[in-house]
Amino acid sequence: MSGSADKTFYLETFGCQMNAHDSEKVVGTLLQQGYRQVPSVEEAGLVLYNTCSIRDKAEQKVFNRLADYKKYRTQGKQFGVLGCVAQQEGEKIFERAPYVSLVCGSASYRNLPQMLVQLETGGQRVTGLDDRATDKCFETEYTARTNPHRGYITIIEGCDKFCAYCVVPYTRGKERSRTSSSVLEEARQLVDLGYTEIQLLGQNVNSYRDPDGKKSFAELLVAVASVAGIRRVRFTTSHPRDFGRDIVDVIDSVPALCDHVHLPVQSGSSRVLDAMQRLYTRDEYLERIGWIQAARRDISLTSDLIVGFPGETEREFEETLSLMDVVGYDSVFTFKYSPRPNTPALRLEDAIPDAEKARRLAILNDKQKQIGARRNRRHVGQVLEVMVEGKNPARGQWIGRTSQIKVMNFTVPAGVELTTGSYVQVRVTGSFPNSLVGEMAGV
Ligand code: SF4
Repeated sequence: MSGSADKTFYLETFGCQMNAHDSEKVVGTLLQQGYRQVPSVEEAGLVLYNTCSIRDKAEQKVFNRLADYKKYRTQGKQFGVLGCVAQQEGEKIFERAPYVSLVCGSASYRNLPQMLVQLETGGQRVTGLDDRATDKCFETEYTARTNPHRGYITIIEGCDKFCAYCVVPYTRGKERSRTSSSVLEEARQLVDLGYTEIQLLGQNVNSYRDPDGKKSFAELLVAVASVAGIRRVRFTTSHPRDFGRDIVDVIDSVPALCDHVHLPVQSGSSRVLDAMQRLYTRDEYLERIGWIQAARRDISLTSDLIVGFPGETEREFEETLSLMDVVGYDSVFTFKYSPRPNTPALRLEDAIPDAEKARRLAILNDKQKQIGARRNRRHVGQVLEVMVEGKNPARGQWIGRTSQIKVMNFTVPAGVELTTGSYVQVRVTGSFPNSLVGEMAGV
């Protein structure tokens, strides 16, 4: 390493919002330990790579990246692999990339200060590979927040659902919730830092269980939304099996809770959902959608969809298409099924050829484009509150997001300058499948 007088690190992050927020906490921990963050591998004494294993061939991509780092190994740098691929591959990483000296999964980040000391004193194969056994959360008061508008708060780590295609229960460990008092304390700190929008994070926020036994998830939502200074509260991700009607009730009654629910369905076929071990049927899912659509507020619905799960027939794929019509999603994230290491789905037969998966994905995306266009057209003529996120000088437009998490590009009267993070009223003048356009109508 480059010496204790100037301990420097470079961190590269891949993957989901949870990973991005983990990195904010990892950076905060390193800064607290006297490290300085630098913008390039060249300048760093410690190079960290926070990995994601959700995509096909993720491990291979990690090893390819580590091979890129190899050329620096004679410069006294140390390398560490963090995140899901670290947990999944464990000490095998040292075998394939011997110049790596730290392998640490997310369930062990709370031990980073001790691991850093080991590295600084010449540790060669330092590991943090707590698996499902841990019941501790990564709580730190040192979070180096990078999103200027939205403050993230992890309320629950890990997952106990074991969907057949997913590595998360193995890489992030068992479910463990933070106390509601600690979550509320972090919300208050975010207000002190100037945040007005908060997003509560967890792989499955609906299975939140307050260790203090004080609050259900819906009650926690209300409590966070009631913190003075908070104007918007979002949460992700929900699991249909655990999604309760009480969540819709509180969205209906607490203005600071945003008009948006992300409720991943994955497939519209009950047979495929069963094979995926998703623990709900198409009808049970649609029952929850019915609760949301019966709300007094106009709650936008988004989802995740997988095509080409092993054995998915053409008819079952069409059930997913018909479900999209029935629900009318505002937007969806779509994926081709890809086999992930150590998951139960690996044992299933009837793999779908990649070309067929690609065909189904294209059909699905095309359908969503039409549905998204229809869903967004209904906003034309409405005046919506937008949180300002920035400006596109080339187009002379500002950009922001509505409570429904829709992107709004809008113009302002001549001479008006906005500040990011502020809220304005925007009249919607046009729409596209994935965004709205408008003109500022007031503050
Ligand atoms: S709910 Fe299923 S898909 Fe989501 S993290 Fe848990 S196992 Fe993975």
